[in-house]
Amino acid sequence: MIQLSDRLLAMEESATIAMSRISRELKAAGKDVISLSLGEPDFFTPEFIKDAAKEALDQNYTMYTPVAGYDDLRESISLKFKRDNGLNYSKDQIVVSTGAKQSIANAVLSCINPGDEVIIPAPYWVSYIEIVKVAEGIPVIVHAGIETDFKITAKQFEDAITPKTKMMIFSSPCNPTGSLYSQEELRGLADVLVKNPSVVVISDEIYEHINFVGKHQSLAQFPEIFDQVITINGVSKAWAMTGWRLGYIGASKLIADACNKVQGQFTSATCSIAQRAAIVAMKADPAVLQDMIKAFKSRRDLVLGMLKEMPGVKANTPEGAFYIFPDISYFIGKKYKDTTITSAHDLCLYLLSEAMVALVSGESFGSNNCIRISYAASEETLVKAMTRVKEALAKLA
Ligand code: PMP
Ligand code: GLU
Repeated sequence: MIQLSDRLLAMEESATIAMSRISRELKAAGKDVISLSLGEPDFFTPEFIKDAAKEALDQNYTMYTPVAGYDDLRESISLKFKRDNGLNYSKDQIVVSTGAKQSIANAVLSCINPGDEVIIPAPYWVSYIEIVKVAEGIPVIVHAGIETDFKITAKQFEDAITPKTKMMIFSSPCNPTGSLYSQEELRGLADVLVKNPSVVVISDEIYEHINFVGKHQSLAQFPEIFDQVITINGVSKAWAMTGWRLGYIGASKLIADACNKVQGQFTSATCSIAQRAAIVAMKADPAVLQDMIKAFKSRRDLVLGMLKEMPGVKANTPEGAFYIFPDISYFIGKKYKDTTITSAHDLCLYLLSEAMVALVSGESFGSNNCIRISYAASEETLVKAMTRVKEALAKLA
C-alpha cells in the first residue's frame, strides 16, 4: 500500500481554501450559498495590466525567465520599495515568486532548521503554521485578543524569545483581523530585534495598500534591523491579481540568494507573462487604487454596522485589509433544534447550513472565539449575507 509522508500527513488543509471549495461545491449543486470565506478582491485586474500581458504574449515572452524574476521587473520593485516604503532594496535583494505564499515558503525553508522556534502572533494567517511545520520548525504561538486589537506587545514578543528562536512571522495589515501595527508599535518590536540579532522576521505586507487610516508602515524602516527583516509583498490583493500568482520579497542579500536557490529547485521562477504585467503594476501610481480602497472602507462600515445590531457579537474596527474578525464566544453553548454550538467551527457550520453563508472559523487562525468575514463582495451581497447571519444567530438560545 502506498504511504504518504509524515510531513504531508501532519499538514492541515488550508481552511480558507477548504471553505471556498465547500461553498463552490454547494453552489454547483444549486444551493444559494454566499461565500465570504476567501480573501480575494472581487474586482477584476485593471485593463492597463491586462494589456501589458497581452503585449507580452505577442512579443513572445514565453520562455524561462531568470529564477528571481526579470531584471527590469526587479528594478521596478526596487523603485516601488523606495517610492512607497522608503526602503532601499537593490535588484539583487529582490526575489519574485509564485505568489507571496511561495515567497514565505522560500524564506522559511531558507532559514529554519528542524527544532528552530518560530514565533507566530495569533490571530495569524492560516498558512504560516503549516509552512513552518513542513520545515520542521516549532511554531510558538503568542496570543492577542480583541481587547488589544489583536496585536501583541513588544514585551510579549521579548518574553517568547528563547535561545532556539530563529524567526517571527506576522502580517500588518493583518489577515484575519484587519489590524495595523502603528509606527510606534513596530518600533517596539524593532527594539526587541536589536537585542536579538540572530532573529529574523517575515513582515508580510501584502495588504499594504488596503489601509483606511494613513500611510503604510514597514518594519524594515528601522535601519538597525533592516537585515533582520524579510519584507513580503505581491500583486494579488491591491492589484486584484490573485490568479496571476506573483509575490516578492525584499531581504538581505544572504537571504535573497538563499530564496533564489530554493526556488531554482522548486519552481524556476513564476510565469513570464505575469512578470511582464507586474512591471506596469509596480510602475503605476498607487493613487489609482483610491476608488477600490474607498469601496472596501464603505463595505467595512456596512458590515460593522450590521454586526453591531446582532446581540452577542463583538467586533473591533479593522483599519485595513478586507476582513472583520468578530468575537462570537457568546454563542458557544447555545442551541437551535438539535444543534449545539460548542466552538467557532460549529458556529461556521451552523451558519453554512442555516444561513447559507460561508465564513472561516477562528481556530484555523489560532483564535477559538472568533470567525472571519471577508467583505470583498458587493454591498448587495453583503447586506443579504449579514441579514441571513443575523436571523440565524437570533435562533440560537
Ligand atoms: N499573506 C497573507 C496574509 C495573505 O492573506 C495571502 C493571501 N493569499 C498571502 C500571503 C498569499 O498571497 P499570494 O496570493 O500572493 O500567494
Ligand atoms: N489569503 C487568502 C485568504 O486568506 C486567500 C486564500 C489563501 O491563499 O489561503 O483567504
